[in-house]
Amino acid sequence: MDPVDRRLAEAARGFMPVDEGLALHAHAAACGTDGPFLEIGSYCGKSAIYLGAAARDSGRLLFAIDHHRGSEENQAGWEWHEPDLVDPSVGKMDTLPVFRRTIHNAGLESTVVAIVGDSPAVARHWTTPLALVFIDGGHGTAPAHLDFEAWTPKLISGGTLLIHDVFPNPADGGRPPYEIYLRALDDGFVETAAVGSLRVLVAP
Ligand code: SAH
Ligand code: MG
Repeated sequence: MDPVDRRLAEAARGFMPVDEGLALHAHAAACGTDGPFLEIGSYCGKSAIYLGAAARDSGRLLFAIDHHRGSEENQAGWEWHEPDLVDPSVGKMDTLPVFRRTIHNAGLESTVVAIVGDSPAVARHWTTPLALVFIDGGHGTAPAHLDFEAWTPKLISGGTLLIHDVFPNPADGGRPPYEIYLRALDDGFVETAAVGSLRVLVAP
């Protein structure tokens, strides 16, 4: 990854360790399938810098879906809550302003296209075949399985599926991302790499 992109990505706010971010970038850059990339769960834009740099360098778009109101685990009282991301006039989280600043500062505004809305609702209207899907949205049972069911059929054969926060050991984290990873294997996806909690699979 270009050192400037890497510095920006590391400085960005969010939940993507450096080694996993660099793996995101490397596998996106190595994606040999034509078509756009799509991310579910953008938060403040950290993972979108890693994926977006690879998209830009291969002349593609990265669609970045998030309703920007935070997952269950980002709400007040939960482990992953950041109080300064609440819009006080609305009383809800709003990560969109930070996301836009992140993408602007990374020079990726013509590559990363924000889609602000509910992921399964967007998927119902989505017909463009995708070269890469990165699943990092809601980690509860229903959101994770809905994202899996909604988006993996949109992948082109040979395309790349990336799933974040996969923890085989229950002591390390929640189950749903691990469960959808198992479903992917069951559906014939082939695992090609694992870095931290990131899993990389090729679509059948
Ligand atoms: N990839 C990010 C972290 C994502 S956190 C990073 O690199 O830092 C998970 C995100 O999923 C949150 O921002 C939350 O708003 C979003 N999310 C959860 N459920 C969603 C849904 N149903 N539709 C769209 N976005 C959702
Ligand atoms: Mg994550």
